[in-house]
Formats: sequence, structure tokens, C-alpha cells
Amino acid sequence: MTGPDTPDWPRLAALDPRLPSPVQEVVDARLERRGVRLVLKRDDLIHPELIGNKWRKLAPNLAAADGRAVVTFGGAYSNHLRATAAAGRLLGIPTVGVVRGEELAGRPLNPSLARCVADGMRLHFTDRAAYRRKSEPRALAALLRAADAEDAYVVPEGGSNAEAVRGCLALGAELRGQADVVAVACGTGGTLAGLAAGLAPGQRALGVPVLKGGFLTAEVGALQHQAFGGPRGTWHLDDRFHFGGYARVPAELDAFAADFERRHDLPVERLYVAKLLYALVALAGEGAFPRGTAVAAVITGRPFP
Ligand SMILES: *Cc1c(COP(=O)(O)O)cnc(C)c1O
Repeated sequence: MTGPDTPDWPRLAALDPRLPSPVQEVVDARLERRGVRLVLKRDDLIHPELIGNKWRKLAPNLAAADGRAVVTFGGAYSNHLRATAAAGRLLGIPTVGVVRGEELAGRPLNPSLARCVADGMRLHFTDRAAYRRKSEPRALAALLRAADAEDAYVVPEGGSNAEAVRGCLALGAELRGQADVVAVACGTGGTLAGLAAGLAPGQRALGVPVLKGGFLTAEVGALQHQAFGGPRGTWHLDDRFHFGGYARVPAELDAFAADFERRHDLPVERLYVAKLLYALVALAGEGAFPRGTAVAAVITGRPFP
């Protein structure tokens, strides 16, 4: 199936994505005790390399790029950079990654960036000040010039633009009738913005930010405005489960994730998915869901490597 806005680009279709992604019921005693049903929306199974929400967000952008080189932005451990690099190799498209931190340039690459390079991505390291200013058109133009990527199709940091948000409509649509609450971990909030818009009336979306800062409500609103012209669907954020910020995985969270893996035979990605699942168990424990609620957890990724 293709979703409402899934672009029909033959080279993407040839990668044979598993769409709609499977929905899997799990029995977790901690939720069952509270009368809450849990289903896992297995977006991690969409494609072995273009994983989860990265497929949903990149697919419409790759279609729009239509074979041109793609340039995008990320930190040294960005899942988004890796997904873009993999897409470049799979589709035969040149990719350029602008990486935050010029001090990384002279050093051995970490495993995540090494994978990007192995997939053919050309990396350009930039200082943090220039990186931060990339939302200003003139600063962006200068950065693209420095990266020798002026003619490339630009995908923003984290991959969230209007195309990406609309690409996540299908995720919501696939979950119609499957749950009362659909929960997802949030980085930029693009996935939540699209997902919430795709749900049926009466369903609501819950976002769990993995970054500290509390800025995401405005961001999700702005992304919905860009993609749809205004607010869509029912959604809210619970800001209590970032565990100190992006890529912070304290021992308690790691132990929770390892235990969840044993209970349910699910590989739990630590930077996003672990925080989401932890939040759902905590919320159920607090009695935040009325008895009889069905909750869908979107499994947006898989552990790396
Ligand atoms: C990128 C990513 C997210 C965040 O998606 P946003 O659309 O930026 O909110 C969530 N989970 C995983 C596993 C990711 O790689």
C-alpha cells in the first residue's frame, strides 16, 4: 500500500518497503495490570537500512530530489545522516553530510560517521557557530558553498520539512482503528506532526521528547503549519522522559531497555525508543490511561550497529 502522500517514485518502490508496517500485540504485565493494551507499530521493519521514520521522512524528499545529489545536516551520531547515506547508496544518489563540529575533521571517524562514508556520503565538517546559523538563508548559502553542495537538494537537519511531515501522514493512517493513543519518541517532532494529522478523529497522539528544553510544542506547531497550513489532529507532549538530554542513556534507562528486550524479544534502540517505552510504562503506572485504553508505541528505529 502507499499512504495518502507516499510518492510513487519507481526507484524507491524497487527497494520493496514493508508498508504498511506490521502491528504487533505484546502482553506486558505492567500495563495489563492497569487495564492498558499495548501494541507495537513496527516501523523498524519497513526496510533493513532505511529504517523506521527515516524511510517515511526521506522517501518524499528523495522523490522530490529526483536523482539530484542530496545534502543534509547532523551531529556526529545522527541516525538521520546514516539513513541519508544508506539511501544514497541504495538509490545511486550522491549525498553530502554537513557535520557539526570542525574539531572532528582531523580525527578517526566514529562508527556512525564511518558507516556514512562507507555508504558513499561525502562529509563536510563545520564549526558550531556556522552550523547553528544554517536556518538563515545567507548563512545556509555560505555553508553549502563551503561544502561544495550548492546544486544539491537540501534536506534540513533531522530531515523534518513539509515533505517529511506529509510523509508521516501514512503512519497515522495505518494506525486508524488500531489504538486510542499513539505514542512516539520525538527529536525534531516531524514524525509526530505528520502522524497526528493522519489519525482518525477520537485518536490522540502523545510525543515523548528525547531532548531537553521544552521547545518542541512550538516546533511541532510550526511543522504542521508548513505541511498543512495549520494545526491538525490531537496531540500533546510529555517532557519528563528525556533523561538529561539527547544521547543520554543513564544506567536505569539502559537496564529498563535490556529488560524490555528480554520480555518481548524486541531490539530496543536506546536514544529514542527506550525513552518512549519507559514513558509508557511510567504513565501506565501513574494511572494516566483509563482502563480499556489501547496504546500503540511506534518503534521508530533499531539499535546501531
Ligand atoms: C530520528 C529518530 C526519531 C525522531 O524523529 P523526529 O521526526 O525528528 O521527531 C525517533 N526515533 C528514532 C529511532 C529516530 O532515529
